[in-house]
Amino acid sequence: MRDYLYINGEWIKPKYDGLFDVINPATEDLIHKAPAASVDDVDAAVKAARQAFDTGPWSRMTGHERANYLRLIAQSIRAKQNQLAEMEVMDNGKPLPEALGDITDAAGCFDYYAGLAEELDAQPEEHLSLTDTRFKTKVVREPMGVAAAIIPWNYPLLMASWKIAPALAAGCTIVLKPAEQTPLTAMELSTIIDQAGLPAGVVNIITGLGSVAGQALSEHPQVDKIAFTGSVATGSKVMAAAARDIKRISLELGGKSPFIIFEDSDIEKAVEWILFGIFWNQGQVCSATSRVFVHDTIYDRLLSRLIEEARKIKIGNGLDAGVLLGPLVSKQQYDQVLDAITQACLDGAKLAFGGKRPEGLTKGYYVEPTILSDVPLNSAAWREEIFGPVVCVRRFSEESEAVKLANDSPFGLAAAVMSADDARTERVAANLRAGIVWINCSQPTFTEAPWGGYKQSGIGRELGRWGLENYLEIKQITRLVSDEPWGWYIK
Ligand code: NAD
Repeated sequence: MRDYLYINGEWIKPKYDGLFDVINPATEDLIHKAPAASVDDVDAAVKAARQAFDTGPWSRMTGHERANYLRLIAQSIRAKQNQLAEMEVMDNGKPLPEALGDITDAAGCFDYYAGLAEELDAQPEEHLSLTDTRFKTKVVREPMGVAAAIIPWNYPLLMASWKIAPALAAGCTIVLKPAEQTPLTAMELSTIIDQAGLPAGVVNIITGLGSVAGQALSEHPQVDKIAFTGSVATGSKVMAAAARDIKRISLELGGKSPFIIFEDSDIEKAVEWILFGIFWNQGQVCSATSRVFVHDTIYDRLLSRLIEEARKIKIGNGLDAGVLLGPLVSKQQYDQVLDAITQACLDGAKLAFGGKRPEGLTKGYYVEPTILSDVPLNSAAWREEIFGPVVCVRRFSEESEAVKLANDSPFGLAAAVMSADDARTERVAANLRAGIVWINCSQPTFTEAPWGGYKQSGIGRELGRWGLENYLEIKQITRLVSDEPWGWYIK
């Protein structure tokens, strides 16, 4: 891994020699000092991407040609998957099997968009039949230009791939800024991309602080499109910065996703999917099903089984075998999650399980898997994203009541429903105001399927063909085919 910014196909030191600390959340050790891009470095990266887009070969290549590069990137990610996964664990804290899954998915994402780049070549030109037969119009899709990608720390390499792969497939050039908590795999990705032989300036990777590099990137007038994933507060700032130049924008923000479990559900399966829905990645997942509604008639049995299984989860360093819950990403996140639990209890919630640092783990940002019940509907714990291993469980008796409470949120990223009755799950899925609805499960994510939210959870969709459209402009080309004089000025 090179300790530089990757700009215009070269590794360069940040202009003012800035560095920031990278901490292993499992040990609290300083593991790296990463380069902090200044506003001037951001400017250099955007200008490199601009020049590569405006004058370079990339945007004019065929989809097939671009696909070859994307496949090379996928292959190199696979070749380095163990190294990348270990880096991700040390940076983010997640258990190694999860990190390996992320790396596999990242490689798969590049392969998938290679396929879509090829399909772009194969797409016949779209000709419109106009009522005015004096004209012929065709519609073409073109790359949007220079994309800026600002990503969070919860899935570092995967989030980078969700943005870089479709942008490249579309023919855009890109500047990526990873989160300051987790820069390592993005830095390694610059080597992978360089070795794949992409033309200089097509991909630029700059590590740095959000308040400096992120802000400068979202304000830069030569950026055409911003793809952002992170918090609502920062997303709102990025959107305001983008508004000045009417930049295209896609936002993938937070959630407080509901999971409705009906009385005819298999309790063991329900427990498994609740655990997966909230403790996967330590609950630091935008789509985490953090509000669980359980039908009154199975509530007590389900809650006691949930507590039993939560108690068995092995907590520890993500590199240790059998660990299924690692530390939270940072001291800040650890403090915020513990504060949120304390506040929930002060607001009247019942702590059914967990809620503190696990015994025996004296170092690292660990929080027990936490189950809150009887959480007041107007409390912060019920309404706001905690982004940690904390689930709020509540009983319901009527379907309409559960759906109404599920939808009563400023967010609308994901939702889940479980029942043996297919008609019921279809009906509930139709009534849930969310961009993703899982039936009889929670969280599985597919590169082919659209990902994004309603309401404050974001704008636009990533993944699938929708992810590619994020980076394409639509152009109509209209030709006059009639010899008749137009006759407006010249009669
Ligand atoms: P954040 O939104 O502050 O950071 C996300 C990215 O934005 C990072 O790369 C950061 O450097 C950058 N950034 C920060 N300030 C910026 C600015 N002014 N302009 C441009 N870019 C800027 O998120 P966070 O502080 O890392 O986490 C805070 C909360 O965000 C979490 O507690 C959680 O609720 C939420 N979050 C959501 C997701 C998600 O996938 N939706 C991921 C991570 C965090």
